[in-house]
Amino acid sequence: MTVPKASILVVEDEASIRVLLSQVLTEVGYQVRSAEDGFSALAELRRDVPDILLSDLNMPGMSGFELLSVVRLRFPSMHTIAMSGAFSGREVPSGVAADAFYQKGASVEYLLKTLAAVPPGVPFLPEEPSTGLEPIWVQPDLRLDGERSYGTISCPECMRAFSLALGDSNRLVHEADCIYCGSAIHYAIMQPVERVPVEVLQRARGEEMPRFGDLSRLDS
Ligand SMILES: [Zn+2]
Repeated sequence: MTVPKASILVVEDEASIRVLLSQVLTEVGYQVRSAEDGFSALAELRRDVPDILLSDLNMPGMSGFELLSVVRLRFPSMHTIAMSGAFSGREVPSGVAADAFYQKGASVEYLLKTLAAVPPGVPFLPEEPSTGLEPIWVQPDLRLDGERSYGTISCPECMRAFSLALGDSNRLVHEADCIYCGSAIHYAIMQPVERVPVEVLQRARGEEMPRFGDLSRLDS
């Protein structure tokens, strides 16, 4: 008897990598779906929730940084693996809300080993329970509209996305109400050029970056 393997949602903007990963993972027995960016991934998640989310970090539209932060809030028990060619090593890059990291270009065997370490049917338990106040990342749109900057924000509650005039970038954590379901959303603004929020926050604070989950406590 074969043990049914977990379901995986692969999120990757480069079609060749997306197709290749889907083929390899299907061949070894996973139930695979795929999406080309964070927005399509949210649509897939609204339809059906997979056991594992494997997401690229740098994607146009909604990046993996934003997607993973939304998923961690909405589905804290989902196993998440971030992948990128922009970071090296096997550690999850600081500020990325994922359980594991796969460096693109590393062996497929290593990815399969990482996936195999996820026990089927056993939910991931975060070290600290979610307070519901952790911010999600929002990337500002690069449109010039006077003094205000805009961004597309994804509601962790109903998983719909909408455009929003972003708050003052001097603050770390902001609050907005979802235009669809009315939920309060806490968000942090990503730096548009470097797209590495951690460094920006480090500079702003002049000290060590706190754990991702601790951000909400800084905005006192
Ligand atoms: Zn909502």
